[in-house]
Amino acid sequence: VRIERTRDGLRAWLDGLPGGGGMRVLVPTMGALHRGHLALIARGRALAGPEGTLVVSIFVNPLQFDRAEDLAGYPRPEERDEALCREAGVDVLFLPPAGEMYASDHSVTVSERALSLGLCGAVRPGHFDGVCTVVLKLFLLTGCRVAVFGEKDFQQLAVVRRMVRDLDVPVEIDAFPTVREEDGLALSSRNQRLDAARRADAPRIRRALLEAARLSDPAEMLRLVRTRLGESPLLRVDYVEVVDAATLRPVEDLRGAALLAVAVFYGEVRLIDHIAVGPRRE
Ligand code: AMP
Repeated sequence: VRIERTRDGLRAWLDGLPGGGGMRVLVPTMGALHRGHLALIARGRALAGPEGTLVVSIFVNPLQFDRAEDLAGYPRPEERDEALCREAGVDVLFLPPAGEMYASDHSVTVSERALSLGLCGAVRPGHFDGVCTVVLKLFLLTGCRVAVFGEKDFQQLAVVRRMVRDLDVPVEIDAFPTVREEDGLALSSRNQRLDAARRADAPRIRRALLEAARLSDPAEMLRLVRTRLGESPLLRVDYVEVVDAATLRPVEDLRGAALLAVAVFYGEVRLIDHIAVGPRRE
């Protein structure tokens, strides 16, 4: 795997590939790679094909962090990540240091103003502006034709798709289903920050969502999830919502496709998950 740490270096390497490196696919991440990331990377490898070029980026984007503690505590096992990318058949790993991506007086950001208002956007001010800005920069730097994102971060996926639509960004967005632990916990780089007691408690998030998804009334779903999560003294609920799958606005009935979404704090560690709910699928 080729490692590039600067924007100029990445561009020069990509430009030097015969035929532009064929089909370019990007998997953007913040590192501390787990099986979820590796599934996205395998998908990216398949989309690029043997002749194409698979780019993985690892950048803990300061612009999308709303809490200094979360940014400072974010795991950064660089050597392990490099080895995993090598084994996964990544062609080039883009690892810019913090100072590389933004000029000290940078003043242009991308703002999505509908889908990012609720859910994580409401409790993490500026988060999705940070996501859109770095994702667009990564698209422009890599010249990728396709980028792979995880459904776990469904609001991020929706916001990025809206940016691509509204700004005519020539990148196809490919979505990959959530990869989970055996006990149902969605894989996340933040899971490794949970102590043993919290890690053992965390599968209740998925269990609560599965139990609530059998109900047919959003208000009852919210009540049940709050009750089940409230049974743990180790977590604090950030939000529980039932939203329309397309607009991400709260819904009061289940006539259309919807998502039951939660965010919780285990101490300083914030975890999110969701489940599809809505009209009975036969
Ligand atoms: P992150 O490193 O957390 O920014 O995530 C990088 C990409 O991996 C994003 O597109 C995430 O949605 C995706 N991702 C993170 N966790 C999972 C998971 N458990 N399953 C599938 N995709 C994931």
